[in-house]
Amino acid sequence: MSPSRVDDQPRTNLLYRSLHGRAPEQVVRAKGAYLWLDDGRQILDACAGAAVASIGHGDERVISAVTEQLTQLSYHHTSRLTNPAAEALAAKLVGHRPGGLSNAIFLSSGSEANESAIKLARQYHVEIGQPERVHIISRHNSYHGNSIGCVSLTGIPSRRQHFLPLLMPNTSRISPCYPYRYQKEGETDAQYAVRCAAELEAEILRVGENRVAAFFVETVVGAAAGNITPVPGYFQAMRRVCDKYGVLLVLDEVMCGMGRSGKLHCWEWEGVVPDIQTIGKGLNGGYQALSAVLMSERVIAGLRSGSGCFANGQTFQCHPAAAAAGLAVMSIFESEAIVQNCAKRGAELRAALETAFGDHPHVGEIRGRGLFQSLEFVGDRKTKSTFPVDLPLASLLDNAIFNRGVSVYSGFGKGTADGVRGDHILLSPPLNITSEEIKELVQALKQGVDDVFATPE
Ligand code: PLP
Repeated sequence: MSPSRVDDQPRTNLLYRSLHGRAPEQVVRAKGAYLWLDDGRQILDACAGAAVASIGHGDERVISAVTEQLTQLSYHHTSRLTNPAAEALAAKLVGHRPGGLSNAIFLSSGSEANESAIKLARQYHVEIGQPERVHIISRHNSYHGNSIGCVSLTGIPSRRQHFLPLLMPNTSRISPCYPYRYQKEGETDAQYAVRCAAELEAEILRVGENRVAAFFVETVVGAAAGNITPVPGYFQAMRRVCDKYGVLLVLDEVMCGMGRSGKLHCWEWEGVVPDIQTIGKGLNGGYQALSAVLMSERVIAGLRSGSGCFANGQTFQCHPAAAAAGLAVMSIFESEAIVQNCAKRGAELRAALETAFGDHPHVGEIRGRGLFQSLEFVGDRKTKSTFPVDLPLASLLDNAIFNRGVSVYSGFGKGTADGVRGDHILLSPPLNITSEEIKELVQALKQGVDDVFATPE
């Protein structure tokens, strides 16, 4: 078996052909939870693209809303003007309870949202008279996007290595809260949370008590390591350390947010409201390119007390058609109780995964929240050994499962200086997936996994 899937790269015919000598597969149509390829195959989209198609594909209501918006107003610049769709969407997002976030700005991608959040965290400290706060702490086994600022925070060495000389200074990474691999034998959740918080505190003190601007973290780690979910109390412990040292808590919910965890915002599980939050992907289900930065009153008050503006304009920010898609998707979230459906179907998916893989000799852990679940694969369940990087198992699984008619999101395992993680398969289907589709998904997943492990390497 030779792996053909290369981890997340630009996939246009010309470039792919130049690099790989063959054309990538093409998807020509999509509806609901299904994709159709140019060769006629029907594929169940068990990853909703990359956790994007939150209400499924081809929803006429969203398409009409976007068409109507483009007819009325296709674009305007934001130097002076705003538009009703963006205003209504912002109000909806910050009006959600439990609250604490009072403002929103819109951009086009998760990377842009995180880049803006980095700048906002920095500018906040300048505005409140603490310009010495230049450092941002993030975590190993994290992904925050593709731009230089985001790669600087990202904790995946292979994503960083080519660009190291270009990356932002004043960043560092601490351990993620990864109970499967790093919670010690006999250590309670509370003790593990305290140990993680002690690592953050030690890093802040190493950098300098007054030099850290933000702790930047995914609430549940997504693609970087397959749904690493923190122990209860982790975020409360981290928040206490942030507050002690005047450090902003920035939560990247680009992947885990907007209902995917079974609550609208993933931080609702934690009882901890961030100072800054980024969202994207499922926010408008991929009908247009849209992301957002949500800001707390604390941050707004900081800006107000200083220059009174956030230095961050972009040509396509607050795009009316993208906002109209977001509004239409949010209204479907409400009318069809999409988040509640996610919680119910998520429990079904989890139960089906436990039944299918609970005793599998190579499935080390099944983890996640809502319709955001992963399987971490290991050579041996006792030792939690990872598979050789050059196998690469994730690609083999991804291809085999695709050949069984299901598209998943896979990630390679690594044993690096930054820590160990196993190959994983991530599932993030549309939030309105049905029980029947979940059965089909898990059956094909099982067949695909069996295809790989039944084949001698
Ligand atoms: N942050 C997280 C947690 C992500 O998963 C991603 C994308 O996968 C991003 C940021 C970057 O988003 P985008 O690809 O839209 O720039």
